[in-house]
Amino acid sequence: MPRSTTAHIDLDALRTNYRKACERAGNARVMAVVKADGYGHGIARIASALADIAPKYAVACIEEAFAIRAAGHPQPVVLLQGVHAADDLADCVKNQFEPVLHGGHQLQWLGQGNHLPDFWLKVNTGMNRLGFRSDDLPSVMARLEKMNAFPWLQGFVSHFACADDAGSTMTSAQTATFEAATSPWPSLMKSVGNSAAHFIPGQPLFDWSRPGIMLYGGSPIVGKTGPELGLEPVMTLEAPLITTRTVRAGESVGYGAAWVAERDTRMGMVAIGYGDGYPRHAGTDTPAAIGGRRIRLIGRVSMDMLAVDLSNAPEAREGDMVELWGRTVGVDEVASCAGTISYELLTGITSRVPRICG
Ligand SMILES: *Cc1c(COP(=O)(O)O)cnc(C)c1O
Repeated sequence: MPRSTTAHIDLDALRTNYRKACERAGNARVMAVVKADGYGHGIARIASALADIAPKYAVACIEEAFAIRAAGHPQPVVLLQGVHAADDLADCVKNQFEPVLHGGHQLQWLGQGNHLPDFWLKVNTGMNRLGFRSDDLPSVMARLEKMNAFPWLQGFVSHFACADDAGSTMTSAQTATFEAATSPWPSLMKSVGNSAAHFIPGQPLFDWSRPGIMLYGGSPIVGKTGPELGLEPVMTLEAPLITTRTVRAGESVGYGAAWVAERDTRMGMVAIGYGDGYPRHAGTDTPAAIGGRRIRLIGRVSMDMLAVDLSNAPEAREGDMVELWGRTVGVDEVASCAGTISYELLTGITSRVPRICG
């Protein structure tokens, strides 16, 4: 019998979160960001669950776009990182993929093609990862006009550096730079908003917003959890208790003898570890739950196991399922205990953990 360690995926919660993004997006349409295997939930099932409500998907790279096509969905797919080779543009044409072009080398590839895909231009408004500087936009547009590429240009994309931080002035500065840079071409579309931007009062989202993490119930805002923002958890990560015992006062548990019992303590071992993608940096006191009751981790997370203190769940027995995150313990809470963000935890669950719907 296989180990019962599983990630349950609640597709109704996903759809509810997508609709919440739409409500917050006002007049903007909402492309569903499903990169990194649907933030670890399985790109095909996520794309399928949103197929009747999402008019467009967005992914990082062309392989991910092909995975959506393989699942049978015809919507356009935006490639947020553009293309990695000239040949990819022909695949974009054939498959209705819309690359976001961000550098001069990609424009050169565009100029070599006989047929052009619908595409977007990335404008660097301060993130300084990808994109054309806003003051270079006139020359980029002149170059596109010369190649007769204008009819395929959908519009402009930019990305915020600090939208998760309500106190930052950077988002409004980036928005102003973006609006000014793109204003000579008012008929083209604009897209800026990641999940966090949906929660900034008064933030314009223009024509297309691009939420990712909020669809999966993770919080995009520093200091808030998904449920505090009205989002529903999509993944519940569960693993069985495989043994229970009482450690005596003064005895330690696990590698490095990192946790020592102050008093006799009933504890259990749970069949999940960093080999499953559970974060090794989640230390003693990281929450988990059993039967809806909160318990805590003790000691170091091993590759295949972790230890929990069962003082709060005296009736817990071998075979009982422990929730590592889900409805009782939020993924954002675990992420914060591990010094990271829910994005990393969700995308980090390895293929050893079966994803199960329903
Ligand atoms: C990943 C990504 C998004 C989605 O970001 P979230 O914070 O998960 O909402 C949007 N736009 C771009 C360019 C991205 O790379």
